[in-house]
Amino acid sequence: MSIAENLARVRERIEAAARRAGRDPSTIALMAVTKTVPAERIHEAYEAGQRLFGENRVQEFTGKFDAVADLPGAEFHMIGHLQTNKAAKAVEVFSAIDSVDSLRLADKLNAAAQKVGKRIPVLMEVNLGGEESKSGVAPDSEEAWALLHGAEGLEYLEFRGLMTIPPLTQDPEDARPYFRRLRELRDEIGANVRSVRMDVLSMGMSHDFEVAVEEGATCVRIGTAIFGARARKD
Ligand SMILES: *Cc1c(COP(=O)(O)O)cnc(C)c1O
Repeated sequence: MSIAENLARVRERIEAAARRAGRDPSTIALMAVTKTVPAERIHEAYEAGQRLFGENRVQEFTGKFDAVADLPGAEFHMIGHLQTNKAAKAVEVFSAIDSVDSLRLADKLNAAAQKVGKRIPVLMEVNLGGEESKSGVAPDSEEAWALLHGAEGLEYLEFRGLMTIPPLTQDPEDARPYFRRLRELRDEIGANVRSVRMDVLSMGMSHDFEVAVEEGATCVRIGTAIFGARARKD
C-alpha cells in the first residue's frame, strides 16, 4: 500500500468512527507522525494532501528541516518530550509545541517565542496512566494547575488544549476510559480557568484512534498506519 492509500484509508476510518459517535468528521484533524520517516516520504504524504505533521525529537527534525521547510501550508508540531535546553531551538523549527509538561518549560518557550517575536500554540501533555516512562503532568495535580494558572502570564504562548498518550493496551477498548478522562479534564479546566482555551484534544494513535475519535478527539496522531512499522522503537 502506498502512503496515499494509507492516508485515504485512515481518513475513511476517522470518518466512520466520527459518524458512529454522531460527530462531524471535519472537526477531527489527522496528524501524520513522521519520526524516523525520511524527508522524501514526508514529501510523498504532502503530495497526497497531508498538511499536519508531528515529530518527537528536536534533533531529528532539525536534520530534516531544510528539506521540508518550504512545503507551503505544511505544519510541523513537536509531540515528544522537550528538554528545557532545547526550547529555543524547538520554537525556531516547529509551528506548535503539543507536549508542554511543566511551568518551567512553558516559561522557557515563552521567552524564546518572545525573542523571535512569534506567538506559539501549545498543548498541555497529561500523563493519565501515571507511567514513569511517559512525560506529562498528572491530572488534577498541583503541577498541572500551576502550569494552567501560570499560563495566564505567558503572552507568547497560546494554550489550545490537551494531549495524552495512554498506557499501551492490547485491546483498543481498554484505552477508552483514558480518552474519556482527558475529555472530562478538558471540560473541567475549561470551566475553571478562563484564561486558557481548551478546544483541542490530541489523543489516539494507530492502534486506538477510532476509540479516541468516539470519545471526542479533535486530533489523532498516526505514524505506523500511514508510513508502516518503524525500525526503531520510539
Ligand atoms: C510515535 C508517536 C505517535 C504515533 O504512533 P503510531 O503508533 O505509530 O501511530 C503518536 N504520538 C506520539 C507522541 C508519538 O511519539
